[in-house]
Amino acid sequence: MIVVMSVGATEQEATNARDLIKGLGLTPHDNYGTQRVVIAVLGDVAPLRDHLMSKLNVMPGVESVTPISRPFKLASRESHPDDTVIELAGTKIGNGTLTIMAGPCAIEGRDMMIETARAVAAAGATILRGGAFKPRTSPYAFQGLGVEGLRYLQDAGKETGLPTITEVMEPGQVEVVAKHSDILQVGTRNMQNYSLLTAVGKAGKPVMLKRGYGATIEEWLMAAEYIVSSGQPNVILCERGIRTFETYTRNTLDLTAVPLLHHLTHLPVVVDPSHATGKRWLVRPMALAAVAAGADGIMVEVHPRPDEAKSDGEQSLTFDQFGDMASALRKIHEEVRTLIKDPFAMTGPIRVDGASKH
Ligand code: PEP
Ligand code: MN
Repeated sequence: MIVVMSVGATEQEATNARDLIKGLGLTPHDNYGTQRVVIAVLGDVAPLRDHLMSKLNVMPGVESVTPISRPFKLASRESHPDDTVIELAGTKIGNGTLTIMAGPCAIEGRDMMIETARAVAAAGATILRGGAFKPRTSPYAFQGLGVEGLRYLQDAGKETGLPTITEVMEPGQVEVVAKHSDILQVGTRNMQNYSLLTAVGKAGKPVMLKRGYGATIEEWLMAAEYIVSSGQPNVILCERGIRTFETYTRNTLDLTAVPLLHHLTHLPVVVDPSHATGKRWLVRPMALAAVAAGADGIMVEVHPRPDEAKSDGEQSLTFDQFGDMASALRKIHEEVRTLIKDPFAMTGPIRVDGASKH
């Protein structure tokens, strides 16, 4: 349920509304706008709904009370009609900006990290990626440099002025990863690791949540809800492909997720065509398609010598390929801004209930 206070409401009137909510065993969660306070009511609202609505509706300072139909309350567009824009040193993510996250799959050493950071920064990347803790399918594959890798990533970020992103695999790593990186990444294999979601939500840094390769959009948004309800409002959703019967590509890129998410949530949406396709030559067309579909950005893997990469070389771009793709992305983005002015309004009153239809 969403309680919208009127523009001139006093702090005491907002407190009275919060006290009523708390008195019923529910939790008020404030969203401060520039003009007014909006209070989301969290908890098991359904049995108390009519009672609560009738009381709130007549309270001084309350302008409107609306039930939220989505199970992901704080992540829903209903609770927060404006897009979330995440501001990090020198860059903004969301609402019409073009975010380009680039860097190697795995940080393999200081020199390659600095070399890659310089190349992607010069070509227009806005965020530097690199994996230090790597979730590998095989226990015999390169597992990442761990904390040593985090230091190289941080140094490369400082050297180029780019904010950084890296994956955290378990709650015990959250503190050290948050110390070294600007954004925490939760990978596809951990999308429903609820203790990790809660831990990253409490770490005080923006989080990028990749879609589980077998997760529905609703399950994904419920996972985002864990992070937001743990205290972190700045969550980026990353579509990275889902598993289907197709075998030519590593995964199947679900680009429908982009406009659908803009309809359902205020959180920024980025697309990772590297893990989605698994093939270098498919990365560029799918990155362009993602931005054309309205994505707020992309994440791609780039390596100085992809054929020698310790992980995911087949899907990593060379520096030249990245530079060429980044300039094409900027052109598409410029066009799309004029074509999709308001993706939320464009989708219209479609019914999206998460149920599968055959
Ligand atoms: C990654 O981005 O490094 C990664 C492992 O991606 P995913 O979790 O999507 O497989
Ligand atoms: Mn990878």
